[in-house]
Amino acid sequence: MNTSEPNGGAIRKIVIVGGGTAGWMAAAPLAQRLARNPARGAASPCEVILIESPEIGTIGVGEATLPTIRFYNAALGLDRADFVRKTKATFKVGIDFQDWGHVGNRFFHGFGGYGPTLGKYPSHMYWLRMAKEFDNMPSLENWSISSVMAREMKFTPPTDATPSVTDAYSYGFQFDAGLYANYLRDYAVERGAERIEGMIVEVEQHPESGFITAVKLRDGRRIEGDLFIDCSGFRALLMEGALKAGYDDWSEQLPCNSALAVPCASSGPLTPYTRVTAKDSGWVWRIPLQHRTGNGHVYSNAFTSDEAARRVLLDSIDGAALDEPRQLRFVTGRRRKSWYKNCVAVGLSAGFVEPLESTSIHLIETAVGKLLELFPDRDCSPALADEFNRFMGIRYESVRDFIILHYKLTKRDDSEFWRYCANMRIPDSLRHQIELFRETGRVAVYDPHSFAEPSFVAMLMGLGVMPKRYDPFVDQADIRQVHGHFAGLRDMVAQTVARMPGHEAYLATQLQ
Ligand SMILES: Cc1cc2nc3c(=O)[nH]c(=O)nc-3n(C[C@H](O)[C@H](O)[C@H](O)COP(=O)(O)OP(=O)(O)OC[C@H]3O[C@@H](n4cnc5c(N)ncnc54)[C@H](O)[C@@H]3O)c2cc1C
Repeated sequence: MNTSEPNGGAIRKIVIVGGGTAGWMAAAPLAQRLARNPARGAASPCEVILIESPEIGTIGVGEATLPTIRFYNAALGLDRADFVRKTKATFKVGIDFQDWGHVGNRFFHGFGGYGPTLGKYPSHMYWLRMAKEFDNMPSLENWSISSVMAREMKFTPPTDATPSVTDAYSYGFQFDAGLYANYLRDYAVERGAERIEGMIVEVEQHPESGFITAVKLRDGRRIEGDLFIDCSGFRALLMEGALKAGYDDWSEQLPCNSALAVPCASSGPLTPYTRVTAKDSGWVWRIPLQHRTGNGHVYSNAFTSDEAARRVLLDSIDGAALDEPRQLRFVTGRRRKSWYKNCVAVGLSAGFVEPLESTSIHLIETAVGKLLELFPDRDCSPALADEFNRFMGIRYESVRDFIILHYKLTKRDDSEFWRYCANMRIPDSLRHQIELFRETGRVAVYDPHSFAEPSFVAMLMGLGVMPKRYDPFVDQADIRQVHGHFAGLRDMVAQTVARMPGHEAYLATQLQ
């Protein structure tokens, strides 16, 4: 170690491999904070280089997000209206589930809770008590403001008037993946990131440490670096190709391994939500953008043919197809290490869980945020890598379990695929979550920074799990008071939503 650099020496050159959503989402905050640019002068002598191959291109999907995208955008200082304009975005208050659990079932997973609650206990506990006392109790969704907004096709951003119905919801965006990557590319390049076009054909490693020292391009160029970020997509060029990190395959419990994606012309009003409809051997998505609708069919080719899957997709779209369906294959799972030596995998190179709850971009935000928090010196302390891998492992596994839940709780027996899902083995962690809720109405949240209690309640109850009992402390409240609170709140939710602008009308205010 150089004694004049007591921390092991600052990183001087970061090389990002890949210019898809992950690559540019990594490049933008690194350029913002570190890149050498005229404004910063010599104070931060770090180069941020991104290499991408237009010949290979990007995966070209990934258009629905979770609310956390707003925090990522805000940290970059992006102007919301500018972002909405340039990425052709719409607003998203949750996901509309159709035919999940059983054919004909419909429920909404809204972003936000069922509040404000009455006392110290979660709203759904009071609702469960009332459902036991009163016949024909209206669905809990009536107290989820985001669900009511979706039903009424309304949108306005929440206020900070805590605690009130007007801040009991959240929102994300649905955007054009290519435009978002371009938007972040311009941002990063303006702040000093350098973009290189080229095809990487070789990865060089230090003979003793195994650290990556450089990547070689087909045209002979050699790009050296101190820290490499692998955003090369499913190829995982550095993390698997060079470093052989290994992969945990989760396809036994998440059997979908294929997708077909096709854009179609917009039709009907713009929904402030993504729709996911269960099909015989998977499900189809519908993501409305300003200029088109994104559609896709996620399925298992062990249970249906690609041609049959294509027909299911084309039958489900509600506008003229704008292209031929594009075929994608994947293996659900996670790279055993997403930080190894001087390389960090971000995006599809780190793992993939199908996009049913739009979690992949969220996992990119998480990885980029954690990398900044644990930013290494040139020696890339293994302790930092261990902490990164520990944290990301918890996040990936909590997302995995949440998605398995959607399949496991099905009562559908109309196809071999659904019978497989109903009978498959599931992780003990998820089995415990389901049993705890079924028996007591309580939710075990393993990862407090991922899906929160109201999300589990929406999915478990939406899929037909009605808890046998509720928290006994809830019985201490006077039932007339509980009833009054809920009746008043339901009216307030309905009135608040009635005053909101329609989604399209609000969107128009952002486009002026
Ligand atoms: C069917 C499907 C639907 C999805 N829907 C959603 C969704 O709704 N919401 C969500 O959050 N996520 C979704 N995702 C995930 C999302 O698409 C990805 O997380 C996101 O696009 C990031 O991809 P990436 O940047 O890791 O990889 P890619 O987009 O594949 O980018 C890889 C980059 O690496 C470059 N590259 C590769 N090899 C080389 C080489 N040898 N030399 C130089 N460059 C190279 C490529 O050129 C490209 O620039 C979906 C994924 C699938 C499969």
